[in-house]
Amino acid sequence: MNIDSNTKVTGIIGYPLKKTLSPLMQNTAFNALDLNWSYIPMPVKKENLGEAIKGLKALGFKGINVTMPHKEEVIKYLSEVSDYAKIAGAVNTIHFEGSKAIGYNTDGRGFLHALERDGGFSPEGKSALILGAGGAACSIAIMLAMNKIKVLTIVNRTIENAKKLANNIKSRFNDLDIKALSFSEDLPKLIDSADLIVNSTPVGWEGGLIIEPDLLHKKHLVMDLVYMPEETELLREAKARGARILPGKLMLLYQGASSFEIWTKAEAPIEQMREALDKSLSESSRR
Ligand code: NAP
Repeated sequence: MNIDSNTKVTGIIGYPLKKTLSPLMQNTAFNALDLNWSYIPMPVKKENLGEAIKGLKALGFKGINVTMPHKEEVIKYLSEVSDYAKIAGAVNTIHFEGSKAIGYNTDGRGFLHALERDGGFSPEGKSALILGAGGAACSIAIMLAMNKIKVLTIVNRTIENAKKLANNIKSRFNDLDIKALSFSEDLPKLIDSADLIVNSTPVGWEGGLIIEPDLLHKKHLVMDLVYMPEETELLREAKARGARILPGKLMLLYQGASSFEIWTKAEAPIEQMREALDKSLSESSRR
């Protein structure tokens, strides 16, 4: 990579910025297409967020990703926000276009692409169960509702948060059969009848299981948003019971590809990005 005065700069802001695979994915994509672009991680504290957005625009950045804890807060510093990001109440991608800073949320699209392309799963008319009710659960619940899922169950440790999310979705998608539950309620029947089960809690990063694995069976498609380890305990147990599985790295890959396409208007080199991600994840798992 040759950095010079023509290099177009992108990056990621968050705080603290833990290990992020986005620079690897995006720089691999720029190199693969021989684009004179670069992507850098930038830790930005909460109190500096507004100044940082102004500064990035002034410095001529082409776009950035936004991660925890700024995804919601950043909206007030933007000139426009896509409809989907508005409903999700969170932005993970900003495009600096002329004098404007336009916000998008590519998490939902990343999730949907993983389901459709790698899972061969179309949400229309199906039943899904989401474990967790935080930001990621919100993004995927909206995407499933937009794609005509028939039954959606949100299961969360704090029932109030599950209800809040379910009410938000219900207010926009009237026909959807949506329920909010806590883990203490009787889940087996709902799990049994779900076509898709998604873990959108952090349970799995350090091992551990969010649900009783004996409830899983071969009719399920199970996705874990946790992507390290690549095959979490939940995915391993699901696979052992004949379920189809989708690792969280796929959502990461496709949301990154969508951001790339928003900034560059070029088609993302998915296979090169996937290869870089796979290599890095398998190196980390050997450590
Ligand atoms: P978040 O907004 O902080 O929400 C976390 C959710 O998990 C909440 O519903 C919380 O429940 C629940 N939770 C936390 N600890 C739990 C525990 N020990 N047992 C049961 N439930 C627990 O986080 P987020 O942004 O939604 O992210 C959720 C997960 O998805 C994270 O692991 C994140 O890394 C991952 N993620 C992956 C991708 C990807 O591309 N693969 C993208 C986005 C996020 P309460 O409401 O009770 O607190």
